[in-house]
Amino acid sequence: MTKSFTNTNMTAEGHFIFALASTILAKKTSITSTLAQGDWWHIIAGGLLAGILPDIDHPKSILGQRLTWLSIPISRVFGHRGFTHSLLAIITGIALFILGVPSSKNLIPLDAWHGIIIGYLSHIIADMLTPAGVPLLWPCRWRFCIPILHPKKGNHVQRLLCIILLIFALQHQTGTPITQHLSIPDTIHVFWKKIRHSLLQPP
Ligand SMILES: [Zn+2]
Repeated sequence: MTKSFTNTNMTAEGHFIFALASTILAKKTSITSTLAQGDWWHIIAGGLLAGILPDIDHPKSILGQRLTWLSIPISRVFGHRGFTHSLLAIITGIALFILGVPSSKNLIPLDAWHGIIIGYLSHIIADMLTPAGVPLLWPCRWRFCIPILHPKKGNHVQRLLCIILLIFALQHQTGTPITQHLSIPDTIHVFWKKIRHSLLQPP
């Protein structure tokens, strides 16, 4: 399993750029008021760190190589692209933060925390673009994927996609919704506001 990591996964470089672009876009489009008013450095730092965090479940990943004491047990218990690549991992992280364990509210600024959620989500979305997909509903084994990237065929396509996304994020006008050119029904807007409020706004 460990030998094939770089041939079957998006690279750490790809995840970094994808996370950077995602956090810039999230702040510019004011996905939450905390992101809109937050400190750029907090948000970017949180997003970049979380952008490679899910691959802690593989000892050959960039984080896994440095934290083998953590990556090896996680890999053995959950396997690669298991729990850490699921919505349950994100919900667990949010729950731990809301419960303040261990005093995380004082340790991590709220704007950095929002950046972490965006970065983590960006990793899962990026992995969904590869044929292996991700088990979004873990422990259910269903894999969700939109396989437009094939790491075995080289990294140039994923690099290009990530750079295009980054350029799009950098040139996007602050305060402008990403959906400005799309016609989205009001019901979806209302549904998204409810999700955003319940997931990203700790009491
Ligand atoms: Zn991954």
